[in-house]
Amino acid sequence: NKQVILVSYPKDWVIEDNLRIEETDIHLSLKPGCGHVLLQTLWASVDPYLRWRMQESKEGLYAQPFQLGKPIVVRAVSKVIASDHQEIHVGEFVAGPISLGEYALVEGGQGLWKVDPNLAPLSYYLGLLGAPGLTAWAGLNLIGEPKPGDEFFVSAAAGAVGLVVGQLAKLKGCRVVGSVGSDDKVELLKKEFGYDDAFNYKKEVNWDATLGKYFPQGIDIYFENVGGRMLEAVLNHINLNGRIPVCGMLSSYNQEWTEQEGVRNLQNILEKCVKMQGFIVSHHFHHLSTYIQEVAGYLKEGKIKYKEHVTEGLENFAKSFIGMLKGANFGKVVVHISDP
Ligand code: NDP
Repeated sequence: NKQVILVSYPKDWVIEDNLRIEETDIHLSLKPGCGHVLLQTLWASVDPYLRWRMQESKEGLYAQPFQLGKPIVVRAVSKVIASDHQEIHVGEFVAGPISLGEYALVEGGQGLWKVDPNLAPLSYYLGLLGAPGLTAWAGLNLIGEPKPGDEFFVSAAAGAVGLVVGQLAKLKGCRVVGSVGSDDKVELLKKEFGYDDAFNYKKEVNWDATLGKYFPQGIDIYFENVGGRMLEAVLNHINLNGRIPVCGMLSSYNQEWTEQEGVRNLQNILEKCVKMQGFIVSHHFHHLSTYIQEVAGYLKEGKIKYKEHVTEGLENFAKSFIGMLKGANFGKVVVHISDP
């Protein structure tokens, strides 16, 4: 069984040598009575929080650091090929965290949920119909409280979460603008994904002036994916009673920006009575089945579009991960490992 092992912690950017494919002697037979589930990995999800878990010092509530010499743990869609679990049966499809490899053994079926291959392609359960989609929904609705006519801004707008949240905000009647790292992404967001506007943050580098240009009426909701200097600029343009769902802080994952540098303009939070609140998607999994029904409906009716960035093969996982962190993707990054 080939697995993806963490061999060293990255210093700043992840490099391919931080991960290695190893043939492991994982014991694939089931021990009766343990509730084990043996899975064949079909699709693996590539997510920014994996970078966060590759830091030795990052003990915390969110997730524990990965251990050196052990496989990294990712979200995947898998096929059940053997089971000692009462509710999970051979031939079914499940999503959930696994030790990344061609096969995985999950004790007690922990964290696994069944997915329906008839509702949508299986890989969608790692994106639109999985954690990133639910992240977009929860941050927008539970914290952002969108109203028709609200001015909505999202950073990392062409990624897994960004692409969904922008479209959901649009369905709520907001005016939606996103920031992204290339002109091609700007065009796609406007032409195919219904964004009212978008800008390339690598080109329009005076973000304070840029936000003034794209938001002459100010910002009511900022869906925060990057933190750092972008947050600082947004605070100068946030409206009275503005809301900031804090979803992620991409600019600090590679230490491009560090907390020691500080965020300026915080006084705006007080003066403009801004609600700024972080959230973690796993606290909202009880909404997942309702969310899936709602969004699968939008997908069928053509009210929401979805895009994936697919890489082939376990051996290309590291490449795909590095590419995602550097912005090579448009939409949700997934790695195709095998067919059922
Ligand atoms: P994406 O698919 O958006 O991929 C990351 C993208 O971020 C890249 O494509 C890149 O695109 C952009 N990016 C990378 N570095 C920077 C930077 N320094 N400044 C601005 N943009 C940058 O990832 P996800 O949609 O999966 O995740 C988006 C955010 O949501 C992350 O912060 C993630 O941690 C967070 N998240 C939080 C969850 C929660 O429970 N709170 C759950 C899931 C995700 P570009 O070309 O535009 O630069």
